[in-house]
Amino acid sequence: MARVAIIGAGLAGLVLARGLRDAHEVVLFEKSRGAGGRMATRYAGDYEFDHGAQFFTTRTPAFRRFVEPLVAAGHAAAWHARFAEFSGSEMTATRRWDDDYPHYVGVPRMNAIGRALAEGLDVRLQTTVNAVSRDAGDWSLTGSRGGGTPGPLGVFDQLLVTAPLTQTLALLPEERALAEAAAGHDMLGCYALMLGFASPPAVGFDAALVRDADVSWISINSSKPGRNSAPTMLVHATNRWAEANMDTPLESVTEHMLGEVQRVTGVDGHTAEHCDVHRWRFANLPKQSGPRCFYDAERGLGVAGDWWVRGRVEAAFTSAGALLAAIAA
Ligand SMILES: Cc1cc2nc3c(=O)[nH]c(=O)nc-3n(C[C@H](O)[C@H](O)[C@H](O)COP(=O)(O)OP(=O)(O)OC[C@H]3O[C@@H](n4cnc5c(N)ncnc54)[C@H](O)[C@@H]3O)c2cc1C
Repeated sequence: MARVAIIGAGLAGLVLARGLRDAHEVVLFEKSRGAGGRMATRYAGDYEFDHGAQFFTTRTPAFRRFVEPLVAAGHAAAWHARFAEFSGSEMTATRRWDDDYPHYVGVPRMNAIGRALAEGLDVRLQTTVNAVSRDAGDWSLTGSRGGGTPGPLGVFDQLLVTAPLTQTLALLPEERALAEAAAGHDMLGCYALMLGFASPPAVGFDAALVRDADVSWISINSSKPGRNSAPTMLVHATNRWAEANMDTPLESVTEHMLGEVQRVTGVDGHTAEHCDVHRWRFANLPKQSGPRCFYDAERGLGVAGDWWVRGRVEAAFTSAGALLAAIAA
């Protein structure tokens, strides 16, 4: 039984761990307090916000087969949102999402999927891997648990990394072949504005795609299926605006996004009881071409993650599947 270390318990890491656990001794290291990665949920009193991935679709039969049991077990459900498209403040189209092309969300919140997939796995939460080194044919990991003093985390035969691109390259600075394969996959930033209201804001939609504005997405997060949350609105900035404003103070980001929300929907977010913004430095990226993962069988090093394919939940699954196939081969 090989000892396998996986860095990151987002969807890619969890899919890898579940694919390998029968034949190997697998340990996942995750710096956050929970599994799921960017399929994340933020809590604030009675308010809950899926501030990363908003929903996911299943384009491939393999991903459909993977999602089906999650739906059957109640960890995911299709969101039959009243969907609107905006060009600036003009609503240009509306329709209801239905089961012909389902838009899935985690239930009762997006992070429920990571939680369900982590069950039965050895996930070391709040454990940041700071460095990896290869000594005498083994991978040694160093890092800190719960923000404590860094120390050894273990020695493994195989190392699989699923952190976002920049963090992966920082952990593996000497890996030339990886750097070459990953060249050009530039991840983009995003901001998530989270607003909690006493009563649902009257916008006439549950989810909206916005063009010709500095925000690209506005949703009534609390309208997703199975939510217990008080009324919440979740807004994403465009990647373009976020990239140009990565170092802007969060107060100014908040004010700008509130202005855009008011311009598009008429809702004055200053009336919200709760208002917060989250900076995603590495949120997503457009469709990529080339390999879907990296694997060096001789040295027991693999790298997977959405960024090989596209900034989508299904892409993380696809990349992890490609790495599992490479390992099996
Ligand atoms: C704002 C936003 C909106 C999005 N909207 C959508 C959407 O609507 N639909 C869609 O399909 N996708 C969306 N996505 C993209 C989707 O969330 C991702 O494609 C997918 O979740 C990526 O999964 P992953 O496992 O590849 O990476 P991640 O989920 O990022 O997992 C990587 C994990 O590695 C951990 N990690 C990193 N470094 C270390 C370290 N040194 N030590 C230990 N752990 C470490 C991280 O904490 C993280 O949990 C969105 C993402 C964001 C941020």
